[in-house]
Amino acid sequence: MTNILKCACCGARIADLSFLDWSDGETRPFECGECGCWTKVEASVSLETTSDAVETRDELRRLAMWNGCEFWYNTEGVLRIYPADDLGGRELAALWMAPETGYEEAAGLHVTVDGRPLPVDVYDGLVPREAAKVIWKRIGAIL
Ligand SMILES: [Zn+2]
Repeated sequence: MTNILKCACCGARIADLSFLDWSDGETRPFECGECGCWTKVEASVSLETTSDAVETRDELRRLAMWNGCEFWYNTEGVLRIYPADDLGGRELAALWMAPETGYEEAAGLHVTVDGRPLPVDVYDGLVPREAAKVIWKRIGAIL
């Protein structure tokens, strides 16, 4: 991903922001080398996830819907799945994304089924649709 900052005054290229380390909400001024204008940049940092992981999660959400399950996202972005008409009851599964870097966990999709972590190698390397099916099998087994 590239994120080129251009000068608001003259349009000159100032910096490629994607090569810098940012923390959320951080503000930095950049001086334009062409015209001397200063441009302030505020960072909004969000977790980057692999598209495969996102697709797998979305596919799982569809499977949960088709099977009449209840589900919701909590504030940390964890998708929690419950049996039909039992929202907040016994949790069948939880899904969340680990970011590409900065965590000890492997990047990508992480799943717990019935409160226990599902080993990543169960679905690692599968295309999203197949990965979702394999994961759903585990969830379906405790339904
Ligand atoms: Zn400029």
